[in-house]
Amino acid sequence: MLEGNLACPHCQKEAMAPWRKQLMGPGMTATCKNCGGKLGIPVSSAWTLIPFASIAIFALQFPDSFARWSILFGGYVVMAFLFHRFVAFIPK
Ligand SMILES: [Zn+2]
Repeated sequence: MLEGNLACPHCQKEAMAPWRKQLMGPGMTATCKNCGGKLGIPVSSAWTLIPFASIAIFALQFPDSFARWSILFGGYVVMAFLFHRFVAFIPK
């Protein structure tokens, strides 16, 4: 298991499962499973899209669709990791 950034801004315990965090985006509100506090994802987390967007543009240079999708998948994994590791929840 990767070391994640899942701490609740209210109770400092794990607010939700890592896979659930991946389904969240800026503007969404979730509830901490420990204290019931409301939390969200900061708009500033959009920076995790930058490496993915760069990789996606790079992938479009490849005419071969397998290579293109492999690179895109790699880019997605990088984005998911950055989001998981470096984006912290904010109280709502
Ligand atoms: Zn909490």
